[in-house]
Amino acid sequence: MTDYAVDLALFINGAWNAGEGRDELPVLNPATGEAMGGLPMATPADLAAALSAAERGFALWRATDVDARAAILHKTAALLRDRADSIALLLTMEQGKPLAEARGEVLGAAQMFDWCAEDAKRMYGRTLVRPSGQRSVVLQQPVGPVATFSPWNFPIYLMAKKLAAALAVGCSVIAKPAEETPGCTSALMRCLADAGLPAGVAQLVFGDPAMISSTLIASPVIRKISFTGSTAVGKLLMRQCADNVTPSTMELGGHAPVLIFADCDLEKTLDMVVPQKFRNAGQVCVSPTRFYVEASIHDAFVKGFADRTAGVTVGNGLDAATRMGPLANARRPGAVEALVEDAIARGARVAAGGSRDNGPGNFFRPTLLADVPAEADIMRVEPFGPVAVTRPFETFDEVVAAANSTPFGLAAFAFTENGRRANLLGDALEAGMIGINNFAISSADAPFGGVKQSGYGSEGGPEGLASYCVTKAVHLA
Ligand code: NAD
Repeated sequence: MTDYAVDLALFINGAWNAGEGRDELPVLNPATGEAMGGLPMATPADLAAALSAAERGFALWRATDVDARAAILHKTAALLRDRADSIALLLTMEQGKPLAEARGEVLGAAQMFDWCAEDAKRMYGRTLVRPSGQRSVVLQQPVGPVATFSPWNFPIYLMAKKLAAALAVGCSVIAKPAEETPGCTSALMRCLADAGLPAGVAQLVFGDPAMISSTLIASPVIRKISFTGSTAVGKLLMRQCADNVTPSTMELGGHAPVLIFADCDLEKTLDMVVPQKFRNAGQVCVSPTRFYVEASIHDAFVKGFADRTAGVTVGNGLDAATRMGPLANARRPGAVEALVEDAIARGARVAAGGSRDNGPGNFFRPTLLADVPAEADIMRVEPFGPVAVTRPFETFDEVVAAANSTPFGLAAFAFTENGRRANLLGDALEAGMIGINNFAISSADAPFGGVKQSGYGSEGGPEGLASYCVTKAVHLA
């Protein structure tokens, strides 16, 4: 067995803390079910220490020149690249995704640090010059210590998105990544520490999510939170933020529609959509899920999708042949199974997969359900697993209404060679990101975020940096 070589600990005020009577959570390998390590859980005293460290860290970091901050973030990016193989190994062992995907995630995180380090230098503000002699200076200042809550599906990349932007503009951070994936996120924090980030500027805590989030949000030290996860938990945290009027960025669930028009290049489209659906076993907030296919090509689409799905090799992410790993935690196979069984009971046709895999690990077969009735739960509840559903459509208006029919609005995709239609879809689809003939909708330089119940605020791009700032206008006469 490959060694799970990591010391699990909390990182507070520049020091790693473990043991000392703290309760521990087991860290499980989702491909085998084995317990690999014990994760110390933060106590109320740990959180109090993290808060006072973040308060002191903020005073120091906001007064640090942006070039000096950028140098540390660039060094962090370089260390992530140097250590990509060992961090990817931890990520795969904890989360299950194939090693190549894990390595790509680490490199994406490095890019995020480099981009934020540079773009924070360009936050010049603006000056309003008035004939009266008044000069008004509009400036953006770091909001203060930030609490970040990031999930297990892209543990490195999603934590990096939050930390890179917050640290680049001068905020300090208390990060609480998911308890499922503590080794790889600790490795990211070690890169920051080894790059020279001063003590107190970033802390890392794990434990009882509800206890940690309610404690941090209730503290007047915390001036902003950023959460990525389910809409249900997001709503809970938003309510808690109301007490101190704490601003938040909410990256919540999605249920991405994919509109396949008859004029698309069908073979090329299928070659793109099938690997994209089963990437990270479908545990992706922008995963393509509801495939609305123009009726004249619906059957050909289902056949082509099913044939390609049969070729997706499922297994332990450490095996080079694996194209899809297990689901990340033991909760997920049952949740996905309930949605699939409901759809089948209501008349959906199983074109591929359709059930869990026997044996150890949280495996679910790559699944395609065709002709799924609009009333099936899976048409509204995010499967967050390796399941695609199809329905035929006839008209543009009908398919746009169907695509917009859920409470979610994170990503939407369409495949068509008709430029005018593509243009109209960009306006008509209710989503924060729209991909036409491609799935490349997440990058360091572009805003990423949802509308409707998929959340608010952006990560990535200048919008992401601005979200960790307060805007001030100073009027001088
Ligand atoms: P969940 O709702 O229990 O947890 C979602 C995330 O929130 C996890 O990372 C968890 O650690 C965290 N969390 C839970 N309670 C919290 C609290 N009180 N305070 C702070 N953080 C808290 O769901 P789950 O079973 O872990 O994941 C399944 C669902 O979560 C999926 O169906 C999907 O909708 C959503 N999810 C979304 C994303 C995303 O990228 N938007 C990522 C992971 C999970």
